[in-house]
Order: sequence, then structure tokens, then C-alpha cells
Amino acid sequence: MPHDLSRLCIHSITTKPWPLATALERYAAAGVGGISIWQDAAQATGLPETRRLLDASPVEVVSYVRGGFFPHSSPAAREQAVTDNRKMIDEAAEIGAPLLVLVCGAEPAQSLTESREQIREGIERLIPHATASGVRLAIEPLHPMYADTRSAINTLNQANDLAETIDHDAVGVAVDVYHLWWDDRLKAQILRCGAQNNLYAFHICDWKVPTMDMLLDRGLMGEGCIDLPLIRSWVEAAGFDGYHEVEIFSETHWAKDQDCYLEEIISAYREKS
Ligand code: ZN
Repeated sequence: MPHDLSRLCIHSITTKPWPLATALERYAAAGVGGISIWQDAAQATGLPETRRLLDASPVEVVSYVRGGFFPHSSPAAREQAVTDNRKMIDEAAEIGAPLLVLVCGAEPAQSLTESREQIREGIERLIPHATASGVRLAIEPLHPMYADTRSAINTLNQANDLAETIDHDAVGVAVDVYHLWWDDRLKAQILRCGAQNNLYAFHICDWKVPTMDMLLDRGLMGEGCIDLPLIRSWVEAAGFDGYHEVEIFSETHWAKDQDCYLEEIISAYREKS
């Protein structure tokens, strides 16, 4: 049976050509339940105006994207990262977003192990501010092709280990199929994540074959080789009942008429995810 749209969330960057006001208006008209807001979109609109638009919209804000980038060789740069993340927590709170997604970062001048230590330290230092602000943090493991500069957390096992070591309600995990679909331990790790109450977000798209650009050629659900219904079944078996967030960076899809694209997103979500 096709899925209804109440658990469908779309990331603002998915329909990047639309300003936030247009995205919210079109999502609402189409019956989309949620939106995750990228910082550039919120800043272009202005945070107070973003809050006003959200308050007036039936579309629920699901998360603010994205903080992180903790590891650096210099202590001053690590300090700056914590300061920047506190500011992002403030921005999430200002627009009413309950969750800040973390792309954890990596520093190629040092080992991945060192970077992971710095990620843990950085996240732990944010907990008091996150808790006081009512914003939770989601560690998003990234595909290993990004282990050089974007994230030293590359598997769900590593993200689960980190969240369980930190062991605080304010810190959980975001599962993104684009980054994790290839992992032969994915099912077990999704179930583990759910059992520890750490599954905070679920991001969907597809892996195109061939992928022409490792950042900006994500596919719409059904366009690639990810078995989305299977992964969805694991996420649901893990007890997750939150939004399914469509997060697609794609020069191809951004070049389209965005109204037609939104229709494609909705039918792909209903039929292919
Ligand atoms: Zn994601």
C-alpha cells in the first residue's frame, strides 16, 4: 500500500531553488508533514521570519542542518567549532527545531582515531547548552568516501559506539541510507540503535548507478540501487516512528521545475520507499 504523507519530511536543500517561504507553501499544499531546515535557507530568510513562517504553517520543523566539524589540529580551531555549534543550537531553538544534525568532521592531518576523540569531546561539551536549549543532537555517520575531511564517523557501528559512550538523552544518531546502505551489519546496527533509544532521524534518497558526483548527484527514491523498503522495515522494527526525511543534493533535480519535482518526490516516497 502506498504510504500516506504524514511522516514525509523534506529537507529545504532538496528543493534548493525555492526560498523557504515558497517551499513551506508548496509542501503544505501537497500535504507534506515536515521540513528540515538548512542553515543557509534560514539565514537567507532571516531567523525571526523563518520562525514566523513555521509558526503559521501546518508543516512541522523536524531538524536543523547541520552542525559538527569538531576535529582540528589546533586547539583554537576546536574551540571555535564548539562556539559555532553553540550558535547553531541557538538558531535551532530560535526557529523551534528540536534536533540539530551533526556532520562530525575529520582532519586529514591527524589520525581518524584522534579525530574521533575530538568529536566525542566536542559533542560532550555541547550537552549542557543543548539540554538548556531543548535541542537534541544527532550524530550522522557519513559514507567512508568522506572520511578525509567531512566525517571520521563512517559506520552506524561507530555512531552507536559514540552515542552509547556519551550516554545522554540529548545525543542520538541520524541514519541516512545514502551513507549506510552498503554495510553488511546495517540491520543489526539499526536494531541496536533503536534498542538504545538512540535512533533520532531517518534520511532517505537513492544511490544512482553510476553516480557522477559524490556530493551533488544523489538520486530520488527508486532511481538507484538502495533497497529502501528493506531498510525502512528495519528502521520500523527498531521502533522508529518519526519522519522519513528526503534529503537530496542534486544538480539534475535542482535544474528541474520544482513543482514537478515535488510531485515526483511525493510519488517516489509513496511508491518506492
Ligand atoms: Zn543525511
